[in-house]
Parts: sequence; structure tokens; C-alpha cells
Amino acid sequence: MPLQRAAVLAVGSELLTPSRIDTNSLMITEQLNLLGIEVAYKSVIGDDREELAAALRVALDRVGLVVCCGGLGPTDDDVTREVVAQVLRRPLAEDERITAQIRARFASRRMEMPEINRRQALVPAGARVLSNPNGTAPGLWLEEAGRAVLLLPGPPRELKALLMAASDEILKPRSPGLSLVRRVIRITGRTESHTEEAVQPLYTEWAKAEVPIAATILASLGQIELHLSARAVSRDRAEAAVEAASRQVGDVLGLDAYSRDGRTLEQVVGDLLVERRFRIALAESCTGGLLTSRLTDVVGSSRYVERAVVAYANEAKVSLLGVPGKLIDEHGAVSEPVALAMAEGIRASAMVEVGIGVTGIAGPGGGTPEKPVGTVAVAVVIPGATRSRLFRFVGDREHVRIQASQAALDMMRRMLGP
Ligand code: ATP
Ligand code: MG
Repeated sequence: MPLQRAAVLAVGSELLTPSRIDTNSLMITEQLNLLGIEVAYKSVIGDDREELAAALRVALDRVGLVVCCGGLGPTDDDVTREVVAQVLRRPLAEDERITAQIRARFASRRMEMPEINRRQALVPAGARVLSNPNGTAPGLWLEEAGRAVLLLPGPPRELKALLMAASDEILKPRSPGLSLVRRVIRITGRTESHTEEAVQPLYTEWAKAEVPIAATILASLGQIELHLSARAVSRDRAEAAVEAASRQVGDVLGLDAYSRDGRTLEQVVGDLLVERRFRIALAESCTGGLLTSRLTDVVGSSRYVERAVVAYANEAKVSLLGVPGKLIDEHGAVSEPVALAMAEGIRASAMVEVGIGVTGIAGPGGGTPEKPVGTVAVAVVIPGATRSRLFRFVGDREHVRIQASQAALDMMRRMLGP
């Protein structure tokens, strides 16, 4: 029976602390998906024999393939190999060839192999050994009663090489031959529920389609993502199905769906600037450079980003951007007229086509009844068009800043777009 569903068990006590995160399982999931194997669930387990044995028993009961990563080191706290051997009732025996390889690896660094490294040469009976080009712990493959277990070392570089080898040599011939293709559609200007409402009718249609489409909606600050996936006998067919579905979503959501090809909002804005041969200058206050940082995260942004000024103090807005002091007195620093004057000021001094001004109250202090924390004015000036808007964002300082940068990018996108 082909391997359809897998579980990933990430082993390592450090992964249960607030300072480390399991990223290996993402790599493993990506690779399995490419082979059409779905990850049914994953778990993070400390270096603990009992917990690992329990998790392994459950996994063997539920899925065809269990991928364990980590815990193959030479020290006492590395228990994966022993626990797997015990659960599958396979005696462990030293494989002299592995010992020799580990010894040679140390010798190449003019070191003698510590005796404890012999533990890494222990192999459960009947296991297939995948030798590790980047480290000492080999990968191991075990099969029993239609179930398979793949053990991979924890260090990401070692894991990657062995995962690729296991994929080619072992998993591919046993995979269902289905290709899984994913597509992310990014959306602004709608809430999660409004997006769901609009897309809902498509779900029913997709469920009945020849190549069914699975959809998940994820909300983050100032952005909704719709994740589509399809499995089909060939990559091309899965691609075609996902492409057709993403086009349907585009038709339903219109301009709110700003990216159907994985591009971020800053990339989309960057591409629009390149397309129109515009350069941009930014004047930021409450975002403190975040907007510029996001724009310049994009490779090649030097083609359109000319300069940016962080004008936090009112005097800076006056002296660096030429905002009339009277305007600030009259409307307050957080106002559409001031945002507009900031945008126009930086645009004029930089002599570029696009100017943008952002000024707001990120909090926690500084709010007033008329202008509470979260009030942000954004203005965009492009040739032939000027827009400004006063937003009211909810959340703490960081949330307000992120939403402000998101709203500014989105305003630009809508003004520069078709
Ligand atoms: P090996 O199986 O090769 O012996 P290990 O788990 O015994 O690996 P550790 O010393 O515990 O070795 O981990 C080696 C490095 O790999 C550490 O920096 C660890 O944080 C990292 N690592 C282990 N597991 C993961 C994971 N799931 N995601 C990301 N990094 C990981
Ligand atoms: Mg570990």
C-alpha cells in the first residue's frame, strides 16, 4: 500500500522551551507533500523515553509513515534510536561500518572518536541505514506490518541531506504518485468573515470537482490569506485545478485579492512601481521606518526607493519635510492635511513621482478622545492623483504600526494598479 498519510515527531527538549522552535517539520512536510504524502499531524516531544514511546505507538496506530527528527546524538539524552527499537521490538546491534565512518570523520579533523559515539552506530535489526554526509548520526528506515518509520538527525543541515536521500531512494517508489499543489491568495480590505462569506459558494463547487480543492482561511494583521490545495495524478493537473480555483476567487474578491502567486504586498507594490517607472520617497512618523523597511525587504527595491525620512518630532516634520507649522497647530500632527504635506514635501525634495506620508498615534500614550491611540493618517501622492485617509486601528503599539504600514502599502497598490 502506498504511503498516504504521515506523522512527524520532532524530538528535543529544547523545542519545548520558549527559545527554540521546531522548523524541521516544515521542511519534512514540504518534501512529503511534493511526493503526494499528506501530513496528518505532528508532535513536539522532549528527550523523554516514555513520552516518545507513547507518541510513537499512537502514530504507528494512525498513519502509514512516521518521521522522527532529532535525538540521534551520542549522549544519554538522545533516546530516539533506543525508543524506536524498543517499541518495534528490534534488538540494537553495532554496525561496524558506521563506527568506521564516524571514526574516519573524527580522524579527518585530527581527533580520536569518543567512545560514546559508538551509540550512533547502533542499528535496530532490519533497519536500512542512510549514511550522513554532514554529521555522525546516520538516518534509519524501518518497516513493519505495512508501517514505516524514518529517523532523521536534528541539525537542519544534516536532516535536509538525509531527507532528500530518503525521498529519492525510499519514499518516491512508495508514494501515492499524487502531486499536491498549494496556492496562497492574499487579500486586504476585507475581514475574515467577509472573505469567507464571499468565497463560500465556491467551496461546495470545489468539493465536487474532478480534482477537489481544499481551502483554509488564515487571518493576520491587515491581511487575510486563503490557502488552496489540490492533489492530482500529475503535477500539471493539480496546478491547473488550483489555478482555475484561484481565478474564481479573484473574480469574486476583485481588487481585494492582491496576490495569487505568492507575492507579498510589498512585492506587488514594488512591481507596480517598476511597471510604471515611478520612484518613491517616504516620510514616516509613527511607523518609525517600518514601511521603508518592508519596501526595501524586496530584492531590487533600489530601482524605485529613492529615500525615506523618519520625522518623529514636529520640528523634524517642519524642517526636513517643509510641513507648515501652522498646519500642525491647526489640525494636529496626526491629521490628513499633515500626512499630505509630509508626502508632498518628501516627494518635492526627492524629485520623484510617488510621495507617501504616515503620521499617527501608536500608543500606549498620546491618545485623546477625538484621536485615540491607533489613529493614523496616511497620504499618497502620485502623478495625477492624491489620496489621504484617517484610519482607526485597534491593538497595541506593534499592532498599530504593522497595520499602518499595511494600510499605506495597500493604498499605494490601489492607486498604482489598474
Ligand atoms: P541528532 O539527531 O543529529 O543527534 P540531536 O537532536 O541529537 O540531533 P541536538 O544537539 O539536540 O542534536 O540538536 C542539534 C541542533 O539541531 C540544535 O541546534 C537543535 O536546536 C537543532 N534542532 C533539533 N531539532 C530541531 C527541529 N525540529 N527544528 C529545528 N532545529 C532543530
Ligand atoms: Mg536533540
